[in-house]
Amino acid sequence: MDPRVAEQPRTVVVQPTTLCPMDCTYCYLLERHLKQEMTVEVASAIANAIAPTWDSIEVVWHGGEPLAVGSARFVELLQPSESLRRAGHVRHKVQTGGGRPITNAWCDVFEQYDISVGVSIDGPRELNGHRVDRGGRAMFDRTVAGVEALKQRGIPFTVLAVVSQNSTAHATRILDFLRDLGTRWIGFNVEAKEGANSDAQTPSTGDAQRFWRDTFEWCRVNDDVTVREVANLLGFLALTDAQREADSQHDPIPTIAWNGDVVLLSPELLGISSTTYENFVAGNVLKNDLATIVERAGDLRYVQEFTSALAACKQTCEFFSYCQGAHAGDRYFEHGTFAVTETDHCRNSVQAPALALAELLHTRSGE
Ligand code: SF4
Repeated sequence: MDPRVAEQPRTVVVQPTTLCPMDCTYCYLLERHLKQEMTVEVASAIANAIAPTWDSIEVVWHGGEPLAVGSARFVELLQPSESLRRAGHVRHKVQTGGGRPITNAWCDVFEQYDISVGVSIDGPRELNGHRVDRGGRAMFDRTVAGVEALKQRGIPFTVLAVVSQNSTAHATRILDFLRDLGTRWIGFNVEAKEGANSDAQTPSTGDAQRFWRDTFEWCRVNDDVTVREVANLLGFLALTDAQREADSQHDPIPTIAWNGDVVLLSPELLGISSTTYENFVAGNVLKNDLATIVERAGDLRYVQEFTSALAACKQTCEFFSYCQGAHAGDRYFEHGTFAVTETDHCRNSVQAPALALAELLHTRSGE
């Protein structure tokens, strides 16, 4: 394995179902209309793969809509890894778009299995318009109802919010809304061309920089809320020079499909086919040992191209020590290859926040 990719994942993404009842305009999932559900056999293979090899893994149940499998079925899928969870080797997280109601039964599951809950919502009603169901009806009220159900039970939740072109001027409104909704952790994903969303009109870098500048300003006076990108950048700046210059390893993020297929580096590659890279599948947990799949990641053309591109990033990009190469999948979705460096994604999600902070500091130093 190339030393730039870690052999010990920190995160495993697991797809309990491809189905999502929602039809968000920016969704990258090609098979979200299909009801293909994970079996207990596959869930057992995943647990067996984690058990002897890896410690302290976060298992993220995500995409399609994990709640679409139903709480009883979900509990069946949790059982194979339950002894690992009790021993502290595995932590579960569910990322839901609110495509199914968060019922008391779901809250029982979240509490009983100590599951972290992430909710996908982009902001107040007028800025959440990309999140619709299959009939084109707004999801806002249903997602907020799910959040209220969590709050009634005292279950904390994080938020992932997509930043689209129409929301870049409204960072403060979005952040105020999400804080008042009750979250204390927000991650922003600037809309990108990915999978089924390959024709997206993504924000310009100037607009993204404005969004991040307003976000930094907001965070100065709202220190009870963590914004992932702000925390990451400030954390980087707090490092010593030697720590900043050290190369970090990419999490291989094994992403395991409903049928046991595994893709590496980017969950967005699941369900994608390509004439150059075939289907990106590195193996299947029903047939192959997951640790071996990860160890042999360097045999895959897309991993080789990505690691070569990391070397090119390091040689050419002034943001590399902070960025470390950003996401693999965005290179493919934007350019059809992993053997490139700069992408809209890295400009908007890595460079723009750094430039926004530099702009703010520069402005303030002249005040
Ligand atoms: S900002 Fe872009 S070009 Fe620079 S290191 Fe990151 S991925 Fe590479």
